[in-house]
Formats: sequence, structure tokens, C-alpha cells
Amino acid sequence: MLATPMHPHLAAHGGFGLHLHYAPPSASLVERFRATTLMQLSELLCEHGLSRTGVCAADGCDRVYADASRAGRRRFCSEACANRTNVAAFRARRRGPAG
Ligand SMILES: [Zn+2]
Repeated sequence: MLATPMHPHLAAHGGFGLHLHYAPPSASLVERFRATTLMQLSELLCEHGLSRTGVCAADGCDRVYADASRAGRRRFCSEACANRTNVAAFRARRRGPAG
């Protein structure tokens, strides 16, 4: 089991104003990323449910994504997968039904 040290606290530095840090100040960079990612994903799920997460729709890609967009219509893990899929669909249309 992987344990992530958590110690939510308020911080204000770097001109960002008051904001939350989730890991204790003594945590490593990896632990800080892990704590922040866990909390942000939890907030996304609480606010929007599981419909805002998914598996990339691109052929050959099984990455998962969290959709934080306003419209909530994300289908791909990245711009690269979206572009690759759109280019393949465009080329298939250009070839026509005969292939
Ligand atoms: Zn993908």
C-alpha cells in the first residue's frame, strides 16, 4: 500500500494569495504532487461525479483523463491523441468508402 503524507494547511507565497497546500512542508516534491493530485481528483469527483473521468478514445491508447473543461466533453488524454484521431478520420473520409 502506498501512503501519502497529508497535512492540509493555508499558505500565501509567490504572489498567489491565500491557497491550500495538502502535504506537510517537510514532504518531498513527489509526495507534494501526489497529495495535490489526490485532493484535486477528489474535488473533481465530488463536484462532477465519475462522468468527468474516462479512458482515451484514441486507437491504441489506454490512458485515463480527468476532464476539467467547462463543457465536459473531453474524449482524449491529450492533444496528440485528439489530433492523431482527427487526421486518421480525415484521411479515411478522403479515401472514400472503397478504401
Ligand atoms: Zn490518448
